[in-house]
Amino acid sequence: MTGAPATIAKPVVAPVVAPVVSSPSTELPMVSGPAVPFLEIETLRAREFIPAAKESLMALMTEQAQGKVIRPTFNWAGRNSLFPLHWGLACCAIEFAAAFGARWDAERFGVVPRSSPRQCDLLIVNGTVTWKVAHKLITLYEQMPEPKWVIAMGNCATGGGPFRTAYSVVPGVDKLVPVDLYIAGCPPRPEALLDGILKLEELIRERGE
Ligand code: SF4
Repeated sequence: MTGAPATIAKPVVAPVVAPVVSSPSTELPMVSGPAVPFLEIETLRAREFIPAAKESLMALMTEQAQGKVIRPTFNWAGRNSLFPLHWGLACCAIEFAAAFGARWDAERFGVVPRSSPRQCDLLIVNGTVTWKVAHKLITLYEQMPEPKWVIAMGNCATGGGPFRTAYSVVPGVDKLVPVDLYIAGCPPRPEALLDGILKLEELIRERGE
């Protein structure tokens, strides 16, 4: 018989791959990328270190500045430029007005009355406060920005004065808002108001520094 000899296909033998045996006790964790040279590690450390050091330094400087420069400066400016709110209720308000006239000239101390609570940092309550206007007083106080201060001028604002037992009178404005300074008198004279303002400036200095 003639013809092409039959060929027998050789079986394909899969290459034998040796199993990878790892010993967890001795091997270090593998990294995917190439090994990082020493200098790059130093750069990475610097990148992390410099912002952290800068942040700490800035926080320290801010704290120091607030404690030694900014806070005393704002305190000095604030206590020497008090802006009281117009809140005249009774006879004491006439003494308040006189204090800002030509004779006593309270503005030489930097005290300039304003008509909007949003521009004021000092509420001088002078006069008889009734329960009918109590909520208005609280609203005006809450509309003033911080830091703010309150002076109760005269016996009525301090404790109700001669009308203390009246059903309609608030027996002291400290029932409504926190009072920092009381000025006694019925009425207190403009000199007493000026003295009270100077004492409040001293109080602000003590509290703020
Ligand atoms: S304390 Fe005297 S002066 Fe002042 S509002 Fe009262 S009654 Fe008038």
